Amino acid sequence: MRIVVKVGTSTLAHPGGRLNIRHTEDLVKVWSDIKNAGHELIVVSSAATGLGVGKLQIQKPQDITTKQAAAAVGQCELMYTYDRLFGQYNHTVAQMLLTWEDFDHENRLHNLRNTLERLLELGAIPIINENDPIACEEYSLGDNDTLAALVGECIHADLVVLLSDIEGLYTADPHTHPDAKLIPVVEAITPEIEALAGGAGSSLGTGGMLTKISAAKRATNAGADMIITNGARADVLYDIVEGKPVGTRFIGKKEHAQ
Ligand code: GLU
Repeated sequence: MRIVVKVGTSTLAHPGGRLNIRHTEDLVKVWSDIKNAGHELIVVSSAATGLGVGKLQIQKPQDITTKQAAAAVGQCELMYTYDRLFGQYNHTVAQMLLTWEDFDHENRLHNLRNTLERLLELGAIPIINENDPIACEEYSLGDNDTLAALVGECIHADLVVLLSDIEGLYTADPHTHPDAKLIPVVEAITPEIEALAGGAGSSLGTGGMLTKISAAKRATNAGADMIITNGARADVLYDIVEGKPVGTRFIGKKEHAQ
């Protein structure tokens, strides 16, 4: 299987922006094993800004320039960490920093697709983030949920997994409705499903359920299944590749798959 797995800031970093060593080490171990089992893996990783905030020991910035500066610092920390941890399992990582424009220009998209395909052929693990230090505010992808879906579409992934700090899509907001039920499978993204998505995100990340549903639309239209699940338990990816029910699975439109 060709799997795009997106991991959010709240999984990789503690609330103050320091690396969550336990989660990150657990994730890299499982991902390395999934790759050893023969699957292709593309990681879309957030936490550049969050880790930069932690490393610089500043409050979460409100202005765009400080956010971008923090992302430049945190991206180094992020890749240093991935390179070191994946290296323990003899895996090679490759950094790709993208902006919305890269998907909007035929030539860039062509180069992006070719490079990703070649990296996979070479056995490397692409680690993708938005190029936050230069992404222009109006066109910023903002959260990596959309980026993960765009990447999945670009390289015809079988599966896009969003590892989040929530279990999946619920019948109501579980924070305010304790009787809310997890929806295990979504066959089609109807207006009713869209209406279930709220706008809430965590303190350092930017994505909420709304962006996840719109990512699901993009991924499923491109033929991939998309799963939203909690990234706190790294082992969840084993269950996913074994086809066990995990989180919420949005079923891809197979008639459009390539
Ligand atoms: N590209 C952003 C980062 O890496 C994403 C922030 C987020 O949504 O968590 O910091």
